[in-house]
Amino acid sequence: MALKGAEIMKRLPKTNCKECGYATCFAFAMKLATGGAKLEDCPYLAPEVKVELEAAMAPPIKRVTIGVGETALVIGEEEVMFRHEKTFFHEPGIAILISDKENDSDIEKKIKDIKELHFERIGKELKINLLALSFESGDKTKFETLVKKAYETTDFALILICNNIDVLLSAAALCADRKPLVYPITKENIDLAIPKLKELRTPAGVKGESIEEIVSLTSTLKEAGVEEIVLDPGSKNLKEGIRDQTFIRRAALKKGFRPLGYPTITFPCFMYQDKFKEALAAAAFITKYAGIIVISQVDKHFLFPLLVQRFNIYTDPRRPMTVEEKVYEISKPNEYSPILISTNYALDFFIVSGAIEEANIPAYLCIKDTGGIGVMAAWTSGKFNGEAIADFFKKYGIENKVKHRKLIIPGVAKKLKDELEEELPDWEIIFGPLEGSDIPKFLSEGWKE
Ligand code: SF4
Repeated sequence: MALKGAEIMKRLPKTNCKECGYATCFAFAMKLATGGAKLEDCPYLAPEVKVELEAAMAPPIKRVTIGVGETALVIGEEEVMFRHEKTFFHEPGIAILISDKENDSDIEKKIKDIKELHFERIGKELKINLLALSFESGDKTKFETLVKKAYETTDFALILICNNIDVLLSAAALCADRKPLVYPITKENIDLAIPKLKELRTPAGVKGESIEEIVSLTSTLKEAGVEEIVLDPGSKNLKEGIRDQTFIRRAALKKGFRPLGYPTITFPCFMYQDKFKEALAAAAFITKYAGIIVISQVDKHFLFPLLVQRFNIYTDPRRPMTVEEKVYEISKPNEYSPILISTNYALDFFIVSGAIEEANIPAYLCIKDTGGIGVMAAWTSGKFNGEAIADFFKKYGIENKVKHRKLIIPGVAKKLKDELEEELPDWEIIFGPLEGSDIPKFLSEGWKE
């Protein structure tokens, strides 16, 4: 948000008519400045003021959507250089490169592997986002066959990579309703590309040999009405890549330089033959500051660490990760099954629930809402003390679920035991192990129906 509330206020009608839902124009201006209201909510803005405010309040890095529906990739709209300053918003898309030079069975296997490749971590699905289809055969028919195959047999967002502008645009027309990223738009082909890009309403991947060239290309596209643009500064290795990515991000955020205010694409797959170097470059670009990272490997040992890294970097540091408060029934517990309790800090939940599954002993796992903070901090703040847990027991009718009266609490919560013995006098309070990894042994050896 480039404008402050006071600056917005100067442009409002100042009638305090309340039709926007706020008591005064000033209150509306303040809400607009923090992104909590929309310009459309004030029906009395002069059209020229609306245009001016829209431009001034636009995010410094434009939002770009590649693909459609649930598998569309949204990138851009980043507001900070470093995650801890606020948060990163849209995680970079990971694209797998498929060349039309590969034989049919290899392509089919690759597509199948990509479709099947997904992991789960802390309740979230981690997977790749795009197929990057590359024209290397020199045969238009082969490239179009590849594009059709990817379009018809998958719902991935697509990147079309082709140095022949006629072939590129005709392939784009084949899958236009999938809204593919058309790449590369260069100073040599931009005039030919603009009418088709506007007709197909699909994003343009701009490639320049220098930042100056990129600025010229994005300015031309913007003037022609092509709004969704992704930047490739042509970096040839990791060192150049980090330099270029940082320069573009700084220019957009720190200088408000609109011609560079777009998300970027990087190509570790073309930078390095060595797959470890390729992985290293991809990992670096997740942090700084790629919108899309194109890689050549479908190997899960290559991809898993990248996907986990991306997941970690793009979680919001302002909000602890949480799971829902409830009694989780793991492996169909019965009235003789153990009852464990923990907080709704997501990592705690997944460690404990995973350990119970590993023990292969059905159990009730009570998860108390502590606002996503862990056991000790939650105990200190009164969200996970004896009284709070006793209320939880009443709310969820825990006494009716089992015939025994044994409750297993986290091993670190030493002071909680005394409180619970007071609040739940009929229950035996048992410390669980200090480490989650010891839970399977603890349950297998200690729990007898
Ligand atoms: S609707 Fe417009 S003029 Fe009326 S109070 Fe809201 S901002 Fe002011």
